[in-house]
Amino acid sequence: MDGGIDYKRIYNFYKEYDRFFSDCKDCWALRLCSKCFDNIRKGERFDEDRKREMCKSFLKKIEENLIIYCEIIESKPDAFKFFENVKIT
Ligand code: SF4
Repeated sequence: MDGGIDYKRIYNFYKEYDRFFSDCKDCWALRLCSKCFDNIRKGERFDEDRKREMCKSFLKKIEENLIIYCEIIESKPDAFKFFENVKIT
């Protein structure tokens, strides 16, 4: 291809991405994970080892953040009340 958008390449990339993240449906952090393709990319390909490292590190981080969140809520139940007035546009 000389220029423009290579739809076949994009499609193949997406299919590979989808295959790589197919086990996410069983992960407790599915809704909290960015599943960023760049974290598992190695050159033009996705890499299983990089994904394993990303998952391990992400799950540890999100668990730590949820613990902090629960500690805050327990000590100050209205700590995040201000979010009720936040508008997302
Ligand atoms: S932590 Fe790993 S398995 Fe869980 S949703 Fe994210 S990428 Fe998928």
